[in-house]
Amino acid sequence: MKIFILEDEQDIAELIKHNLEKEGLSVEYFLTPEDFLKRYKNDNFDLLILDLMLPGMNGLEILRLIKNNPSKSHIPIIILTARNMEGDKVLGLELGADDYITKPFGVRELIARVKAVLRRVTPAKTLSRLIKINGITLDLEAFCLFVDEKKVETTKTEFYILKILVENQNKVFTREGLLEKLWGNEKIVVDRTIDVHVKRLRDKLGPYGKYLKTVRGIGYTFDMNE
Ligand code: CA
Repeated sequence: MKIFILEDEQDIAELIKHNLEKEGLSVEYFLTPEDFLKRYKNDNFDLLILDLMLPGMNGLEILRLIKNNPSKSHIPIIILTARNMEGDKVLGLELGADDYITKPFGVRELIARVKAVLRRVTPAKTLSRLIKINGITLDLEAFCLFVDEKKVETTKTEFYILKILVENQNKVFTREGLLEKLWGNEKIVVDRTIDVHVKRLRDKLGPYGKYLKTVRGIGYTFDMNE
């Protein structure tokens, strides 16, 4: 999923970019309407985060342009508005914006809104095809793991263990719990072999292996906090 941001305050643009990239989204920002307008027609993007107060132009004009362009009008837009610009917010929604965020905003709120809009407009399949976290990419259709863009061979079991852990970041799984998720009620692998799979996975993840943490006496979790 590719997100475009049009926001003239570079700090804010960077902050949004950084946090959405952590969520596995690909992000590019533009600081001026000119830069954005040069690119938006020929580039594919899945969502636009649009500031309304822009140099030389109101974001609403950009919104109008996009909504009047048949090949772009389907692209969801989240507008960024200042607290004292209620009128713009309403107008933006009337013009077809999907959601709005009021500045100053919290990062969590931003991420939640972006994800909600993407979920609404994207069939689940395309959204879930790739899981990207830092340098780890899981291709759920090809069952491929990439570490720093390089393909790494895994067994199906390793792949699924990683998928479960990554999809549920910071959640601690017992070995039993992992097994249940892996095989339903069929206990094909016995308890301890989970440890073997996890150990191999850690090696295969290279610099990111450290995120696959052992929780003493309980099980495993994928946790990127140091
Ligand atoms: Ca602005």
